[in-house]
Amino acid sequence: MTNTVYPGEFALIESYFKNKTQLRSDTILGIGDDAALLHVPPQQLLVAAIDTIVSGVHFLPETSPYDIAYKALAVNLSDLAAMGAEPAWLTLALTLPQSDSAWLQQFSDGLFALANQYHMQLVGGDTTRGPLTVTIQAHGFVPPQQALLRSGAQAGDKIYVSGILGDAALGLKILTENIIVTDDARTYLLQRHHRPSPRVELGLSLRNIASSAIDISDGLLADLQHILDTSGVGATVDVDKLPLSNALREHLSKDDAKKMALTGGDDYELCFTVPSQHEAALLVQLNQQSVPCTCIGVINQQPGILLDNFAGKIEYAGFKHF
Ligand code: ADP
Ligand code: MG
Repeated sequence: MTNTVYPGEFALIESYFKNKTQLRSDTILGIGDDAALLHVPPQQLLVAAIDTIVSGVHFLPETSPYDIAYKALAVNLSDLAAMGAEPAWLTLALTLPQSDSAWLQQFSDGLFALANQYHMQLVGGDTTRGPLTVTIQAHGFVPPQQALLRSGAQAGDKIYVSGILGDAALGLKILTENIIVTDDARTYLLQRHHRPSPRVELGLSLRNIASSAIDISDGLLADLQHILDTSGVGATVDVDKLPLSNALREHLSKDDAKKMALTGGDDYELCFTVPSQHEAALLVQLNQQSVPCTCIGVINQQPGILLDNFAGKIEYAGFKHF
């Protein structure tokens, strides 16, 4: 006997999604009407990001509902962070194979743990039946001229990354390839895979400092290449400077660890460039940040990525759905 309950569509929204976030004073009308009414503060631009995650494509079907929800919002927050935006609202389009109360409770808990941390209000969505798919749209603000774009990198700018690279990809390998690691490393790496930390505060602090920024979803090289393409420049990366965790160093050869940091996806760290005249201001900001940042290279006039201190061959197309 199970005591699973299968709430109907409106009961489901009412029980698991309505009034779970704090009310924002700039929300004129949230869940319950045909659309939300939102007040963008004067002198700010609305920043909108959307990401869909599909069971079996973006996460393993056995992933816990808490982690699915957490990551679905985290990847959107990461996009806002990479724009230098302050988070405000989210909407949620949820496609479920069935309406299962235990599943929904965990999903709701994961979603609102992160939403409330960033004072975001869930203001609407859509609920449908079908293969498990979660789409979140996140909205935020940035003053005009202060958004961090991919297009501003110039020769001579230093290249930085936040946090540590490669952990999320090794976490995925633990789940899919049964790699043997210590219990502590397993806990740490799975956490890094399932619950990325969006670098929102860092993104905000880089306004007026970074010349370009992107979040690393497909791997450092693939995402840095987007900055280079959009900015019309190239880069030299010193592979010895890449920030690696002890867990990564201890469980992979030196070359494999470097490769994973260069190409592994799902880290959701920020990669950004800083012109020399803003370096002093950067240091001041970084001293106030909880996440460390590392200078890993420099922007060149010449297109392409040169790797210092790396002898192996590497391919870094990133993940493409089509
Ligand atoms: P409509 O048919 O007008 O699109 P719905 O019946 O789909 O409205 O939704 C009713 C209300 O509940 C709307 O305000 C909608 O934004 C909200 N809603 C529906 N699904 C979700 C969800 N998964 N999360 C948050 N709000 C939702
Ligand atoms: Mg609808």
